[in-house]
Amino acid sequence: RAKADGRNRHHFYSRALHDENQRQQQLRHDLRAALDAGQFHLVYQPKVNPQSGEVLGAEALLRWNGPHGPVPPATFIPVAEDTGLILPLGRWVLREACQQAQRWVTAGHALPVSVNISAAQFTDPTFLDTVQEELRRSGLGAHLLELEVTETILMRHVEHVQRNLEALRALGVQVSIDDFGTGYSSLSYLHAFPVNTLKIDRSFLAPDRHGPQAEALITAIVGLGRALNLQVIAEGVEEPAQVRQLLRLGCAAMQGYLFARPLTPGDFLTWLRHWPAQHATFNLTGADPE
Ligand code: C2E
Ligand code: MG
Ligand code: MG
Ligand code: MG
Repeated sequence: RAKADGRNRHHFYSRALHDENQRQQQLRHDLRAALDAGQFHLVYQPKVNPQSGEVLGAEALLRWNGPHGPVPPATFIPVAEDTGLILPLGRWVLREACQQAQRWVTAGHALPVSVNISAAQFTDPTFLDTVQEELRRSGLGAHLLELEVTETILMRHVEHVQRNLEALRALGVQVSIDDFGTGYSSLSYLHAFPVNTLKIDRSFLAPDRHGPQAEALITAIVGLGRALNLQVIAEGVEEPAQVRQLLRLGCAAMQGYLFARPLTPGDFLTWLRHWPAQHATFNLTGADPE
Protein backbone atom coordinates (compact mmCIF):
# COMPACT_ATOMS: atom_id res chain seq x y z
CA ARG A 1 0.00 0.00 0.00
CA ALA A 2 2.68 2.43 1.11
CA LYS A 3 4.72 1.35 -1.88
CA ALA A 4 1.85 2.02 -4.26
CA ASP A 5 1.33 5.49 -2.73
CA GLY A 6 4.99 6.25 -3.19
CA ARG A 7 4.85 5.22 -6.80
CA ASN A 8 1.76 7.30 -7.43
CA ARG A 9 3.35 10.29 -5.82
CA HIS A 10 6.46 9.81 -7.90
CA HIS A 11 4.31 9.56 -10.96
CA PHE A 12 2.47 12.73 -9.97
CA TYR A 13 5.67 14.73 -9.49
CA SER A 14 7.29 13.64 -12.72
CA ARG A 15 4.04 14.42 -14.46
CA ALA A 16 4.07 17.95 -13.02
CA LEU A 17 7.69 18.38 -14.03
CA HIS A 18 6.89 17.15 -17.48
CA ASP A 19 4.05 19.67 -17.79
CA GLU A 20 6.31 22.47 -16.56
CA ASN A 21 8.98 21.50 -19.08
CA GLN A 22 6.39 21.44 -21.85
CA ARG A 23 5.16 24.86 -20.80
CA GLN A 24 8.70 26.28 -20.79
CA GLN A 25 9.42 24.80 -24.20
CA GLN A 26 6.20 26.17 -25.60
CA LEU A 27 7.08 29.58 -24.17
CA ARG A 28 10.56 29.49 -25.73
CA HIS A 29 9.08 28.47 -29.05
CA ASP A 30 6.36 31.15 -28.99
CA LEU A 31 8.86 33.79 -27.89
CA ARG A 32 11.25 33.00 -30.73
CA ALA A 33 8.48 33.53 -33.27
CA ALA A 34 7.12 36.63 -31.54
CA LEU A 35 9.71 39.15 -32.71
CA ASP A 36 9.15 38.31 -36.39
CA ALA A 37 5.39 38.20 -35.85
CA GLY A 38 5.43 41.74 -34.42
CA GLN A 39 3.84 40.68 -31.13
CA PHE A 40 5.93 43.06 -28.99
CA HIS A 41 5.19 46.66 -28.23
CA LEU A 42 6.42 49.28 -25.81
CA VAL A 43 4.46 51.26 -23.26
CA TYR A 44 5.78 54.39 -21.58
CA GLN A 45 5.46 55.39 -17.95
CA PRO A 46 6.03 59.05 -17.09
CA LYS A 47 8.54 60.23 -14.50
CA VAL A 48 7.47 63.44 -12.81
CA ASN A 49 8.27 66.01 -10.18
CA PRO A 50 4.82 66.38 -8.60
CA GLN A 51 5.93 69.49 -6.74
CA SER A 52 7.01 71.54 -9.75
CA GLY A 53 4.79 69.69 -12.20
CA GLU A 54 7.75 69.01 -14.46
CA VAL A 55 7.65 65.86 -16.59
CA LEU A 56 11.14 64.40 -16.28
CA GLY A 57 10.93 61.66 -18.89
CA ALA A 58 9.39 58.26 -19.51
CA GLU A 59 10.44 54.66 -19.01
CA ALA A 60 9.90 52.26 -21.91
CA LEU A 61 8.45 48.94 -20.75
CA LEU A 62 8.15 45.91 -22.99
CA ARG A 63 4.85 44.14 -23.56
CA TRP A 64 4.22 40.81 -25.28
CA ASN A 65 0.89 39.86 -26.70
CA GLY A 66 1.52 36.15 -27.22
CA PRO A 67 -0.61 33.62 -29.14
CA HIS A 68 -2.44 32.83 -25.88
CA GLY A 69 -2.75 36.42 -24.64
CA PRO A 70 -0.52 38.93 -22.86
CA VAL A 71 2.49 37.57 -20.93
CA PRO A 72 4.12 39.75 -18.24
CA PRO A 73 7.81 40.73 -18.56
CA ALA A 74 8.60 38.95 -15.28
CA THR A 75 7.67 35.71 -17.09
CA PHE A 76 9.15 36.19 -20.54
CA ILE A 77 12.27 38.33 -19.91
CA PRO A 78 14.03 35.50 -17.99
CA VAL A 79 13.19 33.08 -20.81
CA ALA A 80 14.47 35.56 -23.40
CA GLU A 81 17.66 35.84 -21.33
CA ASP A 82 18.09 32.04 -21.14
CA THR A 83 17.60 31.54 -24.85
CA GLY A 84 19.75 34.46 -26.00
CA LEU A 85 16.73 36.09 -27.62
CA ILE A 86 17.24 39.07 -25.30
CA LEU A 87 19.99 40.35 -27.61
CA PRO A 88 17.85 40.88 -30.74
CA LEU A 89 14.84 41.72 -28.56
CA GLY A 90 16.78 44.24 -26.48
CA ARG A 91 18.07 45.83 -29.64
CA TRP A 92 14.52 46.09 -30.95
CA VAL A 93 13.47 47.81 -27.70
CA LEU A 94 16.33 50.28 -27.98
CA ARG A 95 15.46 51.06 -31.60
CA GLU A 96 11.76 51.48 -30.91
CA ALA A 97 12.31 53.65 -27.81
CA CYS A 98 14.81 55.93 -29.57
CA GLN A 99 12.42 56.38 -32.50
CA GLN A 100 9.56 57.19 -30.14
CA ALA A 101 11.61 59.75 -28.21
CA GLN A 102 12.65 61.36 -31.48
CA ARG A 103 8.95 61.59 -32.44
CA TRP A 104 8.31 63.37 -29.15
CA VAL A 105 11.09 65.82 -29.98
CA THR A 106 9.43 66.50 -33.33
CA ALA A 107 6.12 67.04 -31.52
CA GLY A 108 7.75 69.61 -29.24
CA HIS A 109 8.37 67.39 -26.20
CA ALA A 110 12.08 66.89 -25.62
CA LEU A 111 11.70 64.13 -23.03
CA PRO A 112 14.38 61.58 -22.15
CA VAL A 113 13.37 57.95 -22.67
CA SER A 114 14.67 55.26 -20.30
CA VAL A 115 15.40 51.75 -21.54
CA ASN A 116 15.95 48.71 -19.30
CA ILE A 117 19.10 46.75 -20.11
CA SER A 118 19.66 43.06 -19.28
CA ALA A 119 22.95 41.63 -18.08
CA ALA A 120 23.41 39.74 -21.36
CA GLN A 121 23.12 43.01 -23.30
CA PHE A 122 25.38 44.95 -20.98
CA THR A 123 28.14 42.33 -21.20
CA ASP A 124 27.79 41.72 -24.94
CA PRO A 125 30.85 42.93 -26.88
CA THR A 126 28.64 44.78 -29.38
CA PHE A 127 26.68 46.66 -26.70
CA LEU A 128 28.29 50.09 -27.11
CA ASP A 129 28.18 49.88 -30.91
CA THR A 130 24.50 48.95 -30.73
CA VAL A 131 23.65 51.95 -28.56
CA GLN A 132 25.56 54.29 -30.86
CA GLU A 133 24.02 52.78 -33.97
CA GLU A 134 20.45 53.13 -32.66
CA LEU A 135 21.06 56.74 -31.67
CA ARG A 136 22.39 57.44 -35.14
CA ARG A 137 19.52 55.66 -36.91
CA SER A 138 16.85 57.48 -34.92
CA GLY A 139 18.58 60.85 -34.90
CA LEU A 140 17.92 61.09 -31.17
CA GLY A 141 20.32 63.21 -29.13
CA ALA A 142 22.31 61.03 -26.72
CA HIS A 143 21.24 63.21 -23.78
CA LEU A 144 17.64 62.07 -24.39
CA LEU A 145 18.52 58.42 -23.86
CA GLU A 146 18.84 56.90 -20.41
CA LEU A 147 19.75 53.28 -19.73
CA GLU A 148 18.45 51.57 -16.58
CA VAL A 149 20.86 48.94 -15.31
CA THR A 150 20.22 47.04 -12.10
CA GLU A 151 22.47 47.28 -9.12
CA THR A 152 23.08 43.52 -9.37
CA ILE A 153 24.38 43.79 -12.94
CA LEU A 154 26.82 46.52 -11.98
CA MET A 155 28.15 44.56 -9.02
CA ARG A 156 28.40 41.22 -10.84
CA HIS A 157 30.10 42.42 -13.99
CA VAL A 158 32.63 44.87 -12.67
CA GLU A 159 35.04 44.12 -15.52
CA HIS A 160 32.56 45.48 -18.12
CA VAL A 161 31.21 48.23 -15.97
CA GLN A 162 33.96 50.80 -15.95
CA ARG A 163 34.53 50.65 -19.69
CA ASN A 164 30.82 50.70 -20.56
CA LEU A 165 29.90 53.46 -18.16
CA GLU A 166 32.77 55.67 -19.19
CA ALA A 167 31.97 55.17 -22.88
CA LEU A 168 28.28 55.95 -22.28
CA ARG A 169 29.19 59.07 -20.38
CA ALA A 170 31.49 60.14 -23.22
CA LEU A 171 28.56 59.65 -25.62
CA GLY A 172 26.31 61.70 -23.34
CA VAL A 173 23.92 58.83 -22.54
CA GLN A 174 22.50 58.88 -18.99
CA VAL A 175 22.64 55.82 -16.76
CA SER A 176 20.48 55.04 -13.78
CA ILE A 177 20.81 52.22 -11.27
CA ASP A 178 17.47 50.42 -11.22
CA ASP A 179 15.97 48.59 -8.22
CA PHE A 180 18.49 50.35 -6.01
CA GLY A 181 18.61 49.00 -2.47
CA THR A 182 17.61 45.43 -3.34
CA GLY A 183 21.10 44.20 -4.30
CA TYR A 184 24.36 44.49 -2.50
CA SER A 185 26.14 47.61 -3.64
CA SER A 186 29.67 48.12 -2.60
CA LEU A 187 29.84 51.77 -1.68
CA SER A 188 33.43 52.04 -2.90
CA TYR A 189 32.39 50.84 -6.38
CA LEU A 190 29.34 53.03 -6.42
CA HIS A 191 31.52 56.01 -5.76
CA ALA A 192 33.72 55.13 -8.76
CA PHE A 193 30.88 54.43 -11.22
CA PRO A 194 29.98 57.28 -13.54
CA VAL A 195 26.19 57.03 -13.25
CA ASN A 196 23.57 59.77 -13.02
CA THR A 197 20.67 58.42 -11.01
CA LEU A 198 19.69 56.05 -8.22
CA LYS A 199 16.25 54.58 -8.61
CA ILE A 200 14.81 53.58 -5.24
CA ASP A 201 13.13 50.20 -5.58
CA ARG A 202 9.41 50.19 -5.02
CA SER A 203 9.69 47.58 -2.24
CA PHE A 204 10.79 50.46 0.01
CA LEU A 205 7.47 52.16 -0.64
CA ALA A 206 5.24 49.11 -0.38
CA PRO A 207 2.55 49.55 2.30
CA ASP A 208 3.88 46.64 4.40
CA ARG A 209 7.26 48.36 4.58
CA HIS A 210 5.74 51.62 5.77
CA GLY A 211 7.03 52.83 9.06
CA PRO A 212 10.24 54.08 10.58
CA GLN A 213 12.51 51.42 9.02
CA ALA A 214 11.47 51.96 5.40
CA GLU A 215 11.66 55.67 6.02
CA ALA A 216 15.22 55.38 7.39
CA LEU A 217 16.24 53.45 4.26
CA ILE A 218 14.76 56.04 1.92
CA THR A 219 16.51 58.76 3.92
CA ALA A 220 19.80 56.86 3.63
CA ILE A 221 19.49 56.49 -0.17
CA VAL A 222 18.60 60.17 -0.56
CA GLY A 223 21.64 61.04 1.56
CA LEU A 224 23.84 58.77 -0.54
CA GLY A 225 22.59 60.47 -3.67
CA ARG A 226 23.44 63.88 -2.23
CA ALA A 227 26.91 62.74 -1.13
CA LEU A 228 27.70 61.24 -4.54
CA ASN A 229 26.00 64.01 -6.46
CA LEU A 230 23.43 61.67 -8.05
CA GLN A 231 19.77 62.21 -8.84
CA VAL A 232 17.35 60.07 -6.86
CA ILE A 233 13.97 58.90 -8.14
CA ALA A 234 11.37 56.72 -6.41
CA GLU A 235 9.46 54.07 -8.38
CA GLY A 236 6.11 52.52 -7.52
CA VAL A 237 4.41 55.59 -6.04
CA GLU A 238 0.73 54.72 -5.61
CA GLU A 239 -0.62 56.95 -2.85
CA PRO A 240 -0.64 60.68 -2.08
CA ALA A 241 0.76 59.92 1.39
CA GLN A 242 3.86 58.46 -0.27
CA VAL A 243 4.29 61.65 -2.30
CA ARG A 244 4.24 63.74 0.85
CA GLN A 245 6.64 61.38 2.60
CA LEU A 246 9.11 61.39 -0.31
CA LEU A 247 9.02 65.18 -0.56
CA ARG A 248 9.60 65.45 3.17
CA LEU A 249 12.60 63.11 2.85
CA GLY A 250 14.07 65.12 -0.01
CA CYS A 251 13.10 63.00 -3.04
CA ALA A 252 11.09 65.00 -5.57
CA ALA A 253 11.41 62.74 -8.65
CA MET A 254 8.79 60.00 -8.84
CA GLN A 255 7.17 57.38 -11.01
CA GLY A 256 4.14 55.25 -10.26
CA TYR A 257 0.52 54.36 -10.87
CA LEU A 258 -0.60 57.43 -8.90
CA PHE A 259 0.60 59.62 -11.79
CA ALA A 260 0.19 57.22 -14.67
CA ARG A 261 0.28 53.56 -15.63
CA PRO A 262 2.62 52.59 -18.46
CA LEU A 263 0.87 54.08 -21.53
CA THR A 264 0.72 53.46 -25.27
CA PRO A 265 2.32 56.29 -27.28
CA GLY A 266 -1.13 57.70 -28.10
CA ASP A 267 -2.31 57.62 -24.48
CA PHE A 268 1.00 59.12 -23.41
CA LEU A 269 0.33 62.24 -25.50
CA THR A 270 -3.18 62.51 -24.04
CA TRP A 271 -1.72 62.15 -20.54
CA LEU A 272 0.80 64.93 -21.30
CA ARG A 273 -2.07 67.25 -22.18
CA HIS A 274 -4.02 66.49 -19.00
CA TRP A 275 -1.10 66.34 -16.60
CA PRO A 276 -0.92 70.09 -15.82
CA ALA A 277 -4.52 70.00 -14.58
CA GLN A 278 -4.04 66.66 -12.78
CA HIS A 279 -0.88 67.91 -11.12
CA ALA A 280 -2.69 70.95 -9.77
CA THR A 281 -5.08 68.67 -7.85
CA PHE A 282 -2.33 67.13 -5.69
CA ASN A 283 -2.57 68.44 -2.18
CA LEU A 284 1.12 68.28 -1.37
CA THR A 285 0.99 70.30 1.81
CA GLY A 286 -2.03 68.54 3.28
CA ALA A 287 -1.67 66.76 6.62
CA ASP A 288 -0.82 63.09 6.36
CA PRO A 289 -4.01 61.27 7.40
CA GLU A 290 -2.04 58.29 8.77
P1 C2E B 1 11.49 47.80 -13.63
O1 C2E B 1 12.44 48.28 -14.66
O2 C2E B 1 11.87 48.00 -12.21
O3 C2E B 1 10.11 48.48 -13.99
C1 C2E B 1 9.16 48.89 -13.06
C2 C2E B 1 7.99 47.94 -12.99
O4 C2E B 1 7.08 48.41 -12.00
C3 C2E B 1 7.19 47.84 -14.27
O5 C2E B 1 6.64 46.53 -14.35
C4 C2E B 1 6.06 48.86 -14.02
O6 C2E B 1 4.91 48.61 -14.81
C5 C2E B 1 5.79 48.61 -12.57
N1 C2E B 1 5.20 49.76 -11.89
C6 C2E B 1 5.30 51.06 -12.20
N2 C2E B 1 4.63 51.83 -11.32
C7 C2E B 1 4.09 51.00 -10.41
C8 C2E B 1 3.27 51.19 -9.24
O7 C2E B 1 2.91 52.29 -8.85
N3 C2E B 1 2.92 50.06 -8.55
C9 C2E B 1 3.30 48.83 -8.94
N4 C2E B 1 2.88 47.79 -8.22
N5 C2E B 1 4.07 48.61 -10.05
C10 C2E B 1 4.47 49.68 -10.76
P2 C2E B 1 6.69 45.70 -15.71
O8 C2E B 1 6.39 46.58 -16.87
O9 C2E B 1 5.86 44.47 -15.49
O10 C2E B 1 8.22 45.28 -15.82
C11 C2E B 1 8.80 44.44 -14.87
C12 C2E B 1 10.28 44.35 -15.07
O11 C2E B 1 10.58 43.72 -16.32
C13 C2E B 1 10.99 45.70 -15.13
O12 C2E B 1 11.21 46.21 -13.83
C14 C2E B 1 12.25 45.33 -15.85
O13 C2E B 1 13.18 44.76 -14.97
C15 C2E B 1 11.77 44.26 -16.82
N6 C2E B 1 11.55 44.86 -18.14
C16 C2E B 1 10.48 45.51 -18.64
N7 C2E B 1 10.69 45.92 -19.90
C17 C2E B 1 11.96 45.55 -20.21
C18 C2E B 1 12.80 45.69 -21.37
O14 C2E B 1 12.45 46.31 -22.38
N8 C2E B 1 14.05 45.13 -21.30
C19 C2E B 1 14.50 44.50 -20.18
N9 C2E B 1 15.76 43.98 -20.20
N10 C2E B 1 13.76 44.35 -19.08
C20 C2E B 1 12.50 44.88 -19.08
MG1 MG C 1 13.40 50.03 -14.93
MG1 MG D 1 12.89 49.42 -11.27
MG1 MG E 1 11.89 47.52 -9.18
